[in-house]
Amino acid sequence: MAAQDVIVIGAGAAGLAAAAALAERGRRVLVLEARDRMGGRIWTRHEAGVAAPVELGAEFIHGHAPATVAWLRRAGRGVVESPDSHWRLRDGVLQQRDSYFLEVQKAMRAALDRMTQDISLAELLDTHLKDVLSPEARNYARMMAEGFDAADTTRASARAIIEEWTGDMLNNAPQGRPEGGYSSLLEALAGALPADKVHVRLQTVVREVRWARGHVEIFGESFGRPYQVQAPRAIVTLPLGVLQLSPQDDGAVRFTPPLDMKQEALRGLGFGPVIKLVLRFQTAFWETLDDGRYRDAAFLHASECPFPTFWTSVPLRAPIINAWAGGPRAAQLSAQSRDGVPTLVDQALQSLQTMFGLRCDVRAELQGAYMQDWQRDPYSRGAYSYQAVGGENAREHLAAPLEDTLFFAGEATASEDDAGTVVGALQSGERAAAEVLQTFTPHA
Ligand SMILES: Cc1cc2nc3c(=O)[nH]c(=O)nc-3n(C[C@H](O)[C@H](O)[C@H](O)COP(=O)(O)OP(=O)(O)OC[C@H]3O[C@@H](n4cnc5c(N)ncnc54)[C@H](O)[C@@H]3O)c2cc1C
Repeated sequence: MAAQDVIVIGAGAAGLAAAAALAERGRRVLVLEARDRMGGRIWTRHEAGVAAPVELGAEFIHGHAPATVAWLRRAGRGVVESPDSHWRLRDGVLQQRDSYFLEVQKAMRAALDRMTQDISLAELLDTHLKDVLSPEARNYARMMAEGFDAADTTRASARAIIEEWTGDMLNNAPQGRPEGGYSSLLEALAGALPADKVHVRLQTVVREVRWARGHVEIFGESFGRPYQVQAPRAIVTLPLGVLQLSPQDDGAVRFTPPLDMKQEALRGLGFGPVIKLVLRFQTAFWETLDDGRYRDAAFLHASECPFPTFWTSVPLRAPIINAWAGGPRAAQLSAQSRDGVPTLVDQALQSLQTMFGLRCDVRAELQGAYMQDWQRDPYSRGAYSYQAVGGENAREHLAAPLEDTLFFAGEATASEDDAGTVVGALQSGERAAAEVLQTFTPHA
């Protein structure tokens, strides 16, 4: 392939969507990816004998997500809707969903109308809503912020959380999964990269980006050897956790000149930790427990457990359960596993056993477990972004191009409604590609 017009750093959803959009308009693109695979925080495994895909990263499609649905359609795939069936452990008994969310939403909406300045979610719950919501409802809100948003409630913007929880994505909108797993989306994206226009270079780690108006030079290692490449434009899709490293940190990508103008935006966002563990059992034993009460259970919650949330693969029938912890709890679990204390699998099994009580032996059913620690992953450093107090316009500022030369995409640069998700990443890649295209004179 002749010299490239654009270098895209990162072959996750954002980078691949950007490359596809640029190639469609005739541009030559070089995609540099540190890992030995495409997809970044999308990583699907298909295991023999298991009817559902094993998702180590993204799994759900939140809301209508038109960009995700359109790409899936190109792969001949649809969306498998997941039932909204939640069970919660209360007083040692699993009970079907309570109405905390509606109660929390109502109180939050009213609080937003009275808020004159942004505060943390913890402050909102502990002061403004202390006498409005029951301790159980406040605990539920904390759990939801940690579990769904992967957020530290002492840092997370109350305003952003309220807007998200009362907005369209969590209300009046379906939740589903890509048919065949998120690998279907990657197949569609990879299929939209014509070989004569796009070259994806795997195992190519970017270490330094030198840039000046109209010129970008990139240094790093490709297959373990020093590597250097250049182009008039670059799109940076590095995860927020990588961008937030100091230049002297191990694994940091150094920008020359440095991205001083992005520092405030980087401080306005948090990058939440998540531990997701996929447990594979001999049988879907929970389907027959207690006369089949939990046969169609989608989510199981136990707020006091190290892993407070579990989900099954319904409507698909598979002997797997996902264990999930987000926010400070996930950071703690990740640190514990580092010290070699009880392993994460042990913690997950204990949590699940607490949920089901002595009616079954969860450990005896276990066949295997799959996990990726995204916090320790050098090319991710966390799971996904959330808005911190004071970070009102942070995403927009992070997304802003520099000198018509460096462009920014990735879930952290998406609009607040879609940030932290695959659809946000896809849309951000398409947006950055459109910005790049505007700076080129059109092809004859
Ligand atoms: C456990 C988990 C569960 C999730 N669940 C969901 C979900 O259910 N639904 C949903 O919509 N979203 C979910 N997400 C979020 C979703 O996965 C991300 O928002 C999305 O995949 C991000 O895409 P991206 O392209 O912005 O970033 P990434 O996918 O992280 O892509 C960035 C790429 O840059 C590469 N890179 C990093 N450093 C370098 C370097 N120095 N040199 C070269 N390349 C580099 C990385 O390897 C990566 O491939 C989840 C995320 C996690 C971790």
